[in-house]
Amino acid sequence: MNYVAEVSADLEDLDLTDSPFSDFLGFELLLEDRDRELLSSVRAHMTRVVEPVINEHWTRATFPHDLVPGLAELGIAGLAYDGPGCPARGALVDGMVAMELGRVDPSIATFMGVHGGLAMGSIHLCGSEEQKERWLPAMARMELIGAFGLTEPDTGSAIAGGLATSAKRDGDGWVLNGEKKWIGNADFADLVIIWARDEDDGEVKGFVVEKDTPGMTFDVQQDKIALRVVQNSEIHLADVHVPEENRLQEGNGFHDTAQVLKVTRMGVAWQAVGCARGAYEHALRYTKAREQFGKPIASFQMVQDLLVKMLSNVTAATAMNVRASQLQDAGLLKDEHASLCKVHATVRMRETVGWAREVLGGNGILLEHHVGRFVADAEAIYSYEGTREMNTLIVGRAITGESAFV
Ligand SMILES: Cc1cc2nc3c(=O)[nH]c(=O)nc-3n(C[C@H](O)[C@H](O)[C@H](O)COP(=O)(O)OP(=O)(O)OC[C@H]3O[C@@H](n4cnc5c(N)ncnc54)[C@H](O)[C@@H]3O)c2cc1C
Repeated sequence: MNYVAEVSADLEDLDLTDSPFSDFLGFELLLEDRDRELLSSVRAHMTRVVEPVINEHWTRATFPHDLVPGLAELGIAGLAYDGPGCPARGALVDGMVAMELGRVDPSIATFMGVHGGLAMGSIHLCGSEEQKERWLPAMARMELIGAFGLTEPDTGSAIAGGLATSAKRDGDGWVLNGEKKWIGNADFADLVIIWARDEDDGEVKGFVVEKDTPGMTFDVQQDKIALRVVQNSEIHLADVHVPEENRLQEGNGFHDTAQVLKVTRMGVAWQAVGCARGAYEHALRYTKAREQFGKPIASFQMVQDLLVKMLSNVTAATAMNVRASQLQDAGLLKDEHASLCKVHATVRMRETVGWAREVLGGNGILLEHHVGRFVADAEAIYSYEGTREMNTLIVGRAITGESAFV
């Protein structure tokens, strides 16, 4: 394709300096028309429907169940997957949609990432054809909501080797025992993917545990200072019986779990750009409206310096993510690519939301100006789906050939 000519023709119609659309280098133009339409419908929905109510939910730490049908109508659950009933729209638009969700609210982006990324991805990448037919269409329509249970109270970063939840073969099924922590959506999910270690062969396997299965109980974690809208639970598994047909048939070890994490890690790298971009856009608008010394604070050199540094961060992180998502669409994404994007995007996000808060002065800590919520939520995005250290070690191993994990 004559990419430059097509992009320049489109650029003439697009005001790239318009602050609500801070896509400074026009990355969105890489999408085909129907994907750009989808992106703008997500943007409109998030701005009109979610933004007005989200601070109230954040304050009260409640999940807006009434917003789920509207999110379902957008048709974005499992957007990149090409399994039964899934939209099959590709990784690049999927990433940009994750960014649009995060740009208005990182909690809603996380809810969708857990359901449409981690839970649907586990079934899509580790399930049999029959299992995909059984669950994916209803999950894509968001009639069934999913959760993903990997992390445990005593083991986070070291989960590959340290996962202690056990699975014991018992006739036609399995018996699960153990504890999970931080599991988003779990208390209301219809399906919870539980990763457990087979007592016989020592391998990590995935089990789809359906709502109300006896022996599975939840304690919703309280008093979080980030992503307060997301409901994270500790899960207690006490002799939970799961039929063999609910064991993910193509998940034969942690290397298969890692395939899921590789693609969802890209989703988190995009969420991080969204979080940074949301904070930047609120900050830009604020600096144009707020006057001190008789002038808008946007006219002061030191304020402009921060605004430009924020925009540079957002633009650079977007560029890295775009390229990695293109590799994903071409089937060439490696763990180290996703890890590099996650590290870079989250480090720059943390810096950006801090600067956004700074230019709002005292108002930066008031929820009504939104930026404070991005500052708090950034802390969770920074740590989940592999901390900065873990993702750095993945890239370090790839470039040196030396594993420095332990
Ligand atoms: C809001 C939120 C939502 C989440 N949702 C889910 C979910 O839905 N499902 C799920 O399964 N999990 C979920 N998680 C868990 C998340 O993936 C873990 O928090 C993450 O993997 C880090 O594990 P940890 O918190 O136990 O930290 P730890 O592993 O205890 O790490 C603590 C610190 O030690 C550092 N560290 C550890 N090992 C090394 C090393 N070898 N070298 C250098 N530094 C090291 C880490 O980088 C980190 O800075 C969620 C977490 C949060 C906060």
